[in-house]
Amino acid sequence: MATPLLKESASKLKKAIPLMLKHQIPTTPTNYALWYTYVGEKSPMLNQHLDKVIAQYNTCPPSQSECLYQEFLSDPMELDIIDMQLNLDAMVTELSQSIKDTNLDAGQFQSKINQNHSKLNKIENEGFTIEEVLTVVKSLVRDSNEIKLSAQHFSEQLAKAQSEIDALKAQLKKSEHEIRFDALTGSLNRRAFNKDLKGILEQYPQGLCLIIADIDHFKVFNDTYGHQLGDQVLKAVSRRLDESCQNGTKLYRFGGEEFALIVPNSQLRRARQLAESMRRSLEKLVVKDKRKGDNINNINASFGVAEFSQQDTINTLIERADKQLYQAKRLGRNRVMPI
Ligand code: GH3
Ligand code: MG
Ligand code: MG
Repeated sequence: MATPLLKESASKLKKAIPLMLKHQIPTTPTNYALWYTYVGEKSPMLNQHLDKVIAQYNTCPPSQSECLYQEFLSDPMELDIIDMQLNLDAMVTELSQSIKDTNLDAGQFQSKINQNHSKLNKIENEGFTIEEVLTVVKSLVRDSNEIKLSAQHFSEQLAKAQSEIDALKAQLKKSEHEIRFDALTGSLNRRAFNKDLKGILEQYPQGLCLIIADIDHFKVFNDTYGHQLGDQVLKAVSRRLDESCQNGTKLYRFGGEEFALIVPNSQLRRARQLAESMRRSLEKLVVKDKRKGDNINNINASFGVAEFSQQDTINTLIERADKQLYQAKRLGRNRVMPI
């Protein structure tokens, strides 16, 4: 039962609660989420701010908690995950308490059985009356019933907890997937893009290239064929681009009809070639309009490519790729820039 995730969240909770007590923080869901994130050290800015507040007030006044929560934790997806982790923690705590209780019961039953056993011995050795024998038998029946009920109750509790834990785990897995993947195309989403790009730039920025692709005249396409077919095209484009990814290149849905590709450890010329082969491959893409039986084969996209340079930040890198994309559009679309 103690998966790494559970162990991690249980240990965070163990650290968070004493800190909350120490600083007299009320145990509200907002505060739990705040302090849970604090001990997880996932958001250095939150930790800095919270440290400052504690240094100033010796506690964290509710108004400050609310502000910090709004500023650093208002992402509903992450909160859902924190919430589920907390639920899992609570379940595990409850379960281990109920195991302890049952052990306690078992100890009491053991001593009752021993008592009854010695009474039974007395029946043999000291010649009890029939009434006395009946009393011993009755108490035996009562005690064994108690044992039976307690064992039954425990196994029911165990089964219930197990199924709740399974449901929570499945929910957690789904949320962890949703947090990184786009629901329509199944490709990685903008959020994953920001996180991955930041990670790569911190570790191996050398030769990192960024390609931004934008489907041409997609608004006209939607107006002509309908939004539903538009969605189908987005899926097909995403699949086609994904098929062309190799050597660690990853595809992300950047926004509506825009995709981004992070090309690690490359160079502008090679990333440009990759974009060019993707552009040609999209030219050949055919999507079937099932309702009308037509084949749609006029799907094109424009591409902007940029290579990371020492002075770049994430934003300037994206800006340069975007500028190149804009040029490609301006020069007539269905092309890769720079040449
Ligand atoms: P350009 O060649 O300059 O890029 O023209 P465009 O029409 O592609 O660009 P514009 O930004 O004017 O319009 C983008 C369109 O993409 C409008 C919007 O309806 C469509 N779009 C965005 N997201 C989705 C989506 O999830 N599904 C569908 N079907 N259409 C989408
Ligand atoms: Mg666009
Ligand atoms: Mg477009």
